[in-house]
Amino acid sequence: MKIQMRMSKLFQKTLLGVIFLFTVIFITISFFSGWNLYRNLAEEYKSKGMAIASSIASSSAETILTLDSATIQAMIDQFLDIEGVAYVFVIDSTGEIISHTFTPAIPSEIKQIAHTHKSGIKDVYIEGMGNFLDIVSPITEGSIGYVHVGMNKTIITQKMWLVLSRQLTLLLLIFLLSVTLAYFMVNKISQPLNKLTEYAKKLLTHDFDAKVDINSKDEIGLLAQTMQSMANNINEVFDRYEFALKDAVLELQDTLAYLTTIIDNMADGLIVVDKDGIVSHVNPAASEMFGKQEFEMVGKNIKILDPELDKLVNKSLIKEEVVSTEINLVDGRVGKAVAKSIKKEYFSEESEAKGLLGSVILIRDITQEKEIDRLKTEFITVVSHELRTPLTSILGFVEIINKKFNDTIISQLNLADEKILKVANKINKNLNIILSEGERITSLIDNILDISKLESGQIYWKFEETSIQEIIINAYKALSSLFEQRGLPCYIEIQPNLPPITVDKERIIQVVINLLSNAIKFTEKGYVKCKASLNGKEVLVSVEDTGIGIPESEKDKIFEKFKQVGDLIRSKPKGTGLGLAISKQIIEAHGGKIWVESEVGKGSTFYFTISLENRGK
Ligand code: ADP
Repeated sequence: MKIQMRMSKLFQKTLLGVIFLFTVIFITISFFSGWNLYRNLAEEYKSKGMAIASSIASSSAETILTLDSATIQAMIDQFLDIEGVAYVFVIDSTGEIISHTFTPAIPSEIKQIAHTHKSGIKDVYIEGMGNFLDIVSPITEGSIGYVHVGMNKTIITQKMWLVLSRQLTLLLLIFLLSVTLAYFMVNKISQPLNKLTEYAKKLLTHDFDAKVDINSKDEIGLLAQTMQSMANNINEVFDRYEFALKDAVLELQDTLAYLTTIIDNMADGLIVVDKDGIVSHVNPAASEMFGKQEFEMVGKNIKILDPELDKLVNKSLIKEEVVSTEINLVDGRVGKAVAKSIKKEYFSEESEAKGLLGSVILIRDITQEKEIDRLKTEFITVVSHELRTPLTSILGFVEIINKKFNDTIISQLNLADEKILKVANKINKNLNIILSEGERITSLIDNILDISKLESGQIYWKFEETSIQEIIINAYKALSSLFEQRGLPCYIEIQPNLPPITVDKERIIQVVINLLSNAIKFTEKGYVKCKASLNGKEVLVSVEDTGIGIPESEKDKIFEKFKQVGDLIRSKPKGTGLGLAISKQIIEAHGGKIWVESEVGKGSTFYFTISLENRGK
C-alpha cells in the first residue's frame, strides 16, 4: 500500500509537471497560431474583397453610366457565391445606392457607410448580421460611384476555431501519450527507489543481514551496492564490538563479584548511605551487628539503626575528614563507627556539594576492647587507691625525717669530719629525691583517679558563670614562681569585653595550668604567651611557647592516656602523660575542642574552645 502511495505521489508530481508543461504549450501555441491564422485569413479576405471590389468597379463603369441597374444587379449577385463575401453594393457619386445584395432591406448602418466610407477597408458591425470588413473600390476614381464589398468576419473566426480545434485535438493526443509514457517511466524509476527505501529502513532497525534486490548498472544500482557493502562492514564492526562488550561485561561481573565477596566477608560492618542518609548497601557483618536482615535496612533512613549514626553521617557530609563515634549494637554490644563522605571524582562548577554521593560507614565491634579497658582502668584505680594511703604516710614520714634530720641531727654531727659531712649531704640529697619522686607518684595517682572518674562519668561538675580572664589569671598565679624559676616571661593577651562563660571554673583552671606547665616544661628559652579571644559563638584560648615543638605524627597521640613524645625508656619522662588526656576530657565535657599546632624546634601552640551557648548541661 505504502509503495503504491509513494509511487502514485511521484507519478502525481510528474503528471502535474506534464499538465503544467502542456498547458503552457497549449496556451502559447493556441495564442500564436490563432493570432497568426486570424491575421492571415483577414489579409486573405481583405485582398480577396479588394480584388472583387476593383473587378466590379472596372467592369461596371459603363453599366452605371447607362443606368442599367438590372445588369449591375446580376453582376454583383454572382459574387455572393464566393466564400467569405457577405454583401456587395454599388453607389453613385452622390452616395445613392444603385444596386445591392441585401435582403429584405438595406440595413441602416450600410446607408450611413454609403455616404461616409469612400476608400480603403473599414470594420463594420451590422445589427442582426454580425461583423464585416467593408472594402471600397472607386469607379473611375469616384466620379461615377463606388463599389462596396462586405467580407464576413465570422467566417474568419469560425475557420480559425476549426483549425485551432484540430490542432488542440492533436496536442491532447500527444499529451495523453506523454502521460502514459511518463507513468511507465516513473514506475520504472520509483520501483528500485522504493526497494532502496525499504532496505534503508531495515538498516535503521539494525537488520544488517537484509539484502537489496537491485542489479541495474545505473546510479541507483551503484548506490544499492554501496549501501549493501556499507551494511556488511557495519555488521562486522558490530559483531566485533559485541564480542568486546561481552568480554568487558564478563570481566566487570568478575570484578564486581570479587569486590562483593570481599565486602561480604569483611569482619567489620559496612554501611553505605546516600546524601539523604538512606541506606543503599549493607554487608552481612553489619546486618548481624544490628540484628536486622538486609532488606530491613536497605532503603531506610540510617537513624532507625542508631540516632548517633545519623549524626555521624551528617557530620561526615559536612566535613572532609574521617569522623567517628561509639554506637550501641544489638545485645548490649558496643561498636565504633567510622564515617567518611564519598564524592564523585569531578566537581561541578556551581557547587562542590553536587559531587557528594553519600557516606561510607565502617563499624567495628569493640565490646571486648571496652571491657578490657574498663577492667584495666578499674584495676589501676584500685591499685592507685591502695597505693595512695601508704604513699601519703611514707611521704609524711619522709618529710618528718627530713625536718628532724636538718633541724636536730645535723647540729649534733661533727661536720668538720669530712666523712660525716659527706654522709650527711648524701642523706639530705636522698631524702629530697624520695620527696620529689614521691610527689611525682602522688600526682600520677591523682591524675589516674581523676581520669578514671572523668571517663566513667562519675564526676560532679560545678558549673558557674565566670570570666575567662579570671581563669587565666588564676592559672598563671599558680605557676608564677615556676616561670620565675625558669626565667621565662609569660605574656597574657585577653581581648577586652569578652562575654562571661558558664563552666566548671576549677576544672578549666586545671586545663590552663596543664597547658602552661607543659609550655614551661618543654621550653628552654624564649617566652610563653596565653591569649583569649572571641571566635564566633565561642571563646578561643591559646597557649603558645617557643619550645621543642611536637612532630606532626605525634600531634593527635599526645591527647591519649600515657602518651608522651620521645623515647621514654632511655630518657626520663617529664610528667605522667595524663595531663592532656584529662584536659581533653574536661574540654569535651564543656562542648569544646582541644588541638595543637606545632613545628619541631620552633614551638607549639595549644588551642581550646569554650562554647558561649554551653550552660553547663
Ligand atoms: P605530661 O605530664 O607528660 O606533660 P601531657 O599529657 O600533659 O603529659 O603531655 C603529653 C606529652 O605531650 C608530653 O609528654 C610531651 O611529650 C608532649 N607535650 C605536651 N605539651 C608540650 C609542649 N608545650 N611542647 C612540647 N611537647 C609537649
